[in-house]
Amino acid sequence: MPHYIDPHIHMVSRTTDDYHRMALAGCVAISEPAFWAGFDRGSARAFHDYFRQLTEYEPKRAALFGIRHYSWLCINAKEADNVSLSREVISLIPEFMSQPNVLGVGEIGLNKNTANEATIFQEHLDLAAKTDELVLIHTPHLEDKFKGTRMIIDMLKNDTRVKPHRVCVDHVEEHTIRLALDGGFWCGMTLYPLTKCTPQRACDMLEAFGTERVLANSAGDWGKSDPMAVPELIQEMRRRGHPEETIRTVVYDNPLAFWRQSRNWKEPAGLPTLA
Ligand SMILES: [Zn+2]
Repeated sequence: MPHYIDPHIHMVSRTTDDYHRMALAGCVAISEPAFWAGFDRGSARAFHDYFRQLTEYEPKRAALFGIRHYSWLCINAKEADNVSLSREVISLIPEFMSQPNVLGVGEIGLNKNTANEATIFQEHLDLAAKTDELVLIHTPHLEDKFKGTRMIIDMLKNDTRVKPHRVCVDHVEEHTIRLALDGGFWCGMTLYPLTKCTPQRACDMLEAFGTERVLANSAGDWGKSDPMAVPELIQEMRRRGHPEETIRTVVYDNPLAFWRQSRNWKEPAGLPTLA
């Protein structure tokens, strides 16, 4: 197995055994965006604890398996419908932004495409613009996806401070990948066993749209998902005869190239070097 990176996985809701299996499969680094916990948190204080977990505790758990752990901070789109709570949480973020494993602001976005969610999305863009942070974006699922992706891209384009090459639009599918790539953004394909895109559909998209600015991730979380999804994509690409360097571009060089733009980035010792 080649080395690979999973640029979107919620390890706080996975077991230590998952880290072990990922390391055995060649995982050398992951990034963990701040997300919903499966329930609505009762106060900003709970987010403060979560941010400590993402920046202090989880990197140590990953390091036990030789995996570098990076994170992204925000209030997720689902809880962002509560504007006053969201503003409190956003005010907590700057104290964590310079922690050594933080890559930027994320995963911000829309869930039900509400006006409140859009307001908080734009306030996160303000936060990111102040210190020129990378941005990672969650696009809504299923029937809300196309409209939500359209709304997000419009908000990004309307904000003149946003530099598309410093933004990744995640969970793209066949009907939204063009919107992201044509806008100059990076995009992430989320590999789910059934919903979102399967490794086969991701492979079809790579064949149709190419590998430039495209990432692949498992988005493993507390729900039904597969932390081994990126190795599954590697297998599918091999089965179809894609050269090893193309595979490496998608599962290693691309996520690293995106992350390296982070203001906070320090080249870690011992990571296999870029081709
Ligand atoms: Zn996520």
